[in-house]
Amino acid sequence: MQLKLAIEGVVPSTTGYSIVVTCNKCAGLHEMGILITMEDGPAAKQSIGKLYDGKTLPKSLENLTNTSISCPKTGRQSTQKNHHQIFLVPTTNDSPKRHPKSRPATSIKF
Ligand SMILES: [Zn+2]
Repeated sequence: MQLKLAIEGVVPSTTGYSIVVTCNKCAGLHEMGILITMEDGPAAKQSIGKLYDGKTLPKSLENLTNTSISCPKTGRQSTQKNHHQIFLVPTTNDSPKRHPKSRPATSIKF
């Protein structure tokens, strides 16, 4: 299934996901401002702990547990180490409410 010669932009089967984590400070959900694309990813919001249950996380997802998030409610930084509290949320590109250029998004490719 892994085709190394796949040309970016030609195959529309990848889904974009926004990374959302449970906040240690306020117990709310916050977007990390990180966008990833994944082939054969979940159709709905799912934690990476469940998605990779019993499997090894890709390095780029493992790194999320070392990435600090800033809580908009408390203004404090925290990191989420629990894979079951880190979620992939499918994004739709046709939403007019989003302004991609206004967000500090980092793109990670698998
Ligand atoms: Zn928070």
